[in-house]
Amino acid sequence: MSLKIAVIGAGPAGYPAALTAAKLGAEVTVVEKALAGGVCLHSGCIPSKSLLDAAHRFDAVRDIAALCQPTAATAAEEILKALDWPKIQKRQQLVSQKLAAGILAMFRQAKIQYIEGVASFKDAHSLHITQKDQSQELSFDSVIIAAGSTAFVPPPFDKIKDRVYDNSTIFQIPQLPKRLVIVGGGAIGCEFATLMSSLGVEVHLVEMQPRLLPNMDEAVSRLIAQSLQKHGVTLWLGKSVTDAHTEADKAVLTLDQSGTLEAEAVLVAIGRQCNLADLHLENIGLEWNRKGIVGVNPRTLQVKDHIYAAGDVTGLALLAHAGTRQGVVAAHNMCGKSQTYHNEWVPNAVYTVPEVAGVGLTRAQAQAQGLEVKAQKVFMLANGRALTMAAAEGFVEIISDKNTGRLLGATLAGPNASEIISAFTVALQAGFTAEQLQQVIFPHPTVSEAIGDALVR
Ligand SMILES: Cc1cc2nc3c(=O)[nH]c(=O)nc-3n(C[C@H](O)[C@H](O)[C@H](O)COP(=O)(O)OP(=O)(O)OC[C@H]3O[C@@H](n4cnc5c(N)ncnc54)[C@H](O)[C@@H]3O)c2cc1C
Repeated sequence: MSLKIAVIGAGPAGYPAALTAAKLGAEVTVVEKALAGGVCLHSGCIPSKSLLDAAHRFDAVRDIAALCQPTAATAAEEILKALDWPKIQKRQQLVSQKLAAGILAMFRQAKIQYIEGVASFKDAHSLHITQKDQSQELSFDSVIIAAGSTAFVPPPFDKIKDRVYDNSTIFQIPQLPKRLVIVGGGAIGCEFATLMSSLGVEVHLVEMQPRLLPNMDEAVSRLIAQSLQKHGVTLWLGKSVTDAHTEADKAVLTLDQSGTLEAEAVLVAIGRQCNLADLHLENIGLEWNRKGIVGVNPRTLQVKDHIYAAGDVTGLALLAHAGTRQGVVAAHNMCGKSQTYHNEWVPNAVYTVPEVAGVGLTRAQAQAQGLEVKAQKVFMLANGRALTMAAAEGFVEIISDKNTGRLLGATLAGPNASEIISAFTVALQAGFTAEQLQQVIFPHPTVSEAIGDALVR
């Protein structure tokens, strides 16, 4: 008899887990309380990149006007003035809908049962599922918890409910605000600052830490701060919002020691909280907190016995591709086919201008681990392709172990950094030394040639 597997959540962690388990011969049921595709497809990766793409097209109009006769400047202004936000939103929604329909088609093809409803644990082998007009129970041999996370919006932002947005509500904002305050200078905050400023919104970005993208290399933080400022974004670094209230048509935020900041809308992007409250994990003896389920094995994704977790609920990496790999590993291990997850090989990318990406250790992280480090760096100003694209801001820095030559990590800033980082991910995973990577031939002229150029330094 085949193994009966329940998967809670059809986001980027849950749906690949379900497809993998079905492929391995299990009888799979997915329970989803909202839409197949999760945050990633409906209020995360895909909508934000879709809007960023639209924003880049408006930047291109500005660029092209500079290469034309002076009359084009007026034409470009007219195009920018005629920007139709609902149309941009519609295009973004269509992309998400198409991808979500694709997931459901794959489920049908794999004979996966899909139930719309809110799952909670009744006991260690059954779920209670609350649906619109009814409820039902589902028994299983094994379960994968892939319930994901939602935006964390703590006080004082509850005081400005009418004016505050999070990562899911911002996509539905009926019209672009004249002025937007973004609270949080991580990946989400920096991407929204990029896209909103390109769409003509006056953006102020408040970050508590002294630098943007605090988890990345410091040179990346400096570069993105400069680039956002060039785009007209006002940065408030090392500041936090201590209070908030609304006045007639605006929100007023109090910043510690810096007075007040007023805006029509405020986007809070300061962190995530896992969707675990609904699940009644106490019924199966599991503990959890805002960051995730306690006790997930970071290699096998097993929590205990027949219970596995994948995606944001593991607290390992709040990234879609990390969740996908975790889902696949969890499904394999659950079905008796051993696989291992490596959080240290998860790349990250931020879709700013320029794009930035990293994998493995930064120089500072390697040094903090007491490793003797060799750092090789080249600037995009020396890269032919980046210059032809008029996008020569950025660099490649490659970190290896001084004694063994083994690659430890890389940081990239420049055009298509989110794509090129995969070259390093493969090299890192294959256990390459810097010398082995140097022997790889990169096509000319490409931005990826900067990898070879850095390694001859
Ligand atoms: C604005 C934004 C931009 C982002 N951009 C990127 C990016 O560019 N690249 C990247 O890698 N990551 C990005 N992320 C992060 C990425 O979206 C998440 O890491 C990813 O969606 C997590 O996948 P998941 O499957 O764990 O959870 P989710 O995508 O949150 O999916 C979980 C699913 O479980 C369902 N669920 C929850 N509880 C229950 C229940 N009790 N019963 C039934 N169903 C339930 C939810 O409805 C949801 O559909 C971004 C996030 C945001 C907010």
